[in-house]
Amino acid sequence: HYQILLAERPEGTPTRDTFHFDRVSTASPSSGEVLLKTLYLSVDPYMRGRMNEGKSYVPPFELHEPISGGGIGEVVESQSSSLKEGDIVIGNLNWEEYPVVSADAVRKIDPSLAPVSTHLGILGMPGLTAYFGINDICRPKEGETVVVSGAAGAVGSAAGQIAKIYGARVVGIAGTDEKVRYLKEELHFDEVIQYNTVEDMGAALQEACPDGVDAYFDNVGGPISEALYPLLNKYARIAQCGAISTYNSTGEDVGPRVQQYLVKASALMQGFIVGDFSSRFQEGSEKLAEWLQQGSITYRENVVEGFQQTPDAFIGLFKGENLGKQIVKI
Ligand code: NDP
Repeated sequence: HYQILLAERPEGTPTRDTFHFDRVSTASPSSGEVLLKTLYLSVDPYMRGRMNEGKSYVPPFELHEPISGGGIGEVVESQSSSLKEGDIVIGNLNWEEYPVVSADAVRKIDPSLAPVSTHLGILGMPGLTAYFGINDICRPKEGETVVVSGAAGAVGSAAGQIAKIYGARVVGIAGTDEKVRYLKEELHFDEVIQYNTVEDMGAALQEACPDGVDAYFDNVGGPISEALYPLLNKYARIAQCGAISTYNSTGEDVGPRVQQYLVKASALMQGFIVGDFSSRFQEGSEKLAEWLQQGSITYRENVVEGFQQTPDAFIGLFKGENLGKQIVKI
């Protein structure tokens, strides 16, 4: 079977040359380990940061070593008393078709509750990111205006829907017609701006937010955010979740030219990683599951099939190819 190694550290946007498919023989689990058949792999924007050298909140991938990330597998052979053949587990898995992992490093999930892939999306890390970013940082009140960038992605689509549950007026920013239609018609966002077709982003935001912006859930950073800062209302809150527009930049970053607007609006900007809230994951997961069950939130997955598609699925995140959570079905 195959595993995927980091072949080189990308300059700018990753390409197929960033990845190397390495043929390996299937290992047998030792005591305390299990052999998995990988069912789903998650590709996530934060993994781009791990391809660079240098420390961040997660250590970099090693050159010529397997890339790893969120994944779901089925136990095919167990040398652990806690897991048996047929169990479905989630964890940080190497990009490999049949990995051997320590049973302690994965968590069993119940496939009868929801499709297992949702644990990589709405019921997993992206859903929790949206929940804590809105609930704890944006803290929208009834009738306030909340803007979400990267609105049709895994995190953004959940963030906007949660803000709506709290009674906010939600304005999304996304990159294709199909995404705009999805956000308006299926998720009932109040306004959606297609950022790459408007001439003047500031004017478009002003039109979509006549009462200004009370909270901003920012996934993209860069020029989109620069255009938004002047619209911040008094005591606005900014949840800085990500800045995908800058992850592949090789030149000078744009901004942040936010200081004067933060002062003017007495606004609060907070960066966060979902792990900051790990002690409350139970609360977040229960809320998300409840909303999903009630139909107060829905989700989409962009599923590509085949292990060999994993690199392209990852690269596609930076081209806006995904509507909803990008997943690879192995
Ligand atoms: P998405 O599902 O949103 O996929 C990425 C999307 O980003 C693309 O579909 C594309 O949509 C948009 N995008 C890509 N390049 C640009 C660009 N140059 N300018 C504007 N938009 C762009 O990914 P996730 O939901 O998984 O992640 C969203 C953000 O949240 C990322 O910044 C990620 O790093 C961050 N994140 C942070 C976490 C945390 O703990 N803080 C945890 C998880 C994610 P479009 O067509 O609209 O351009």
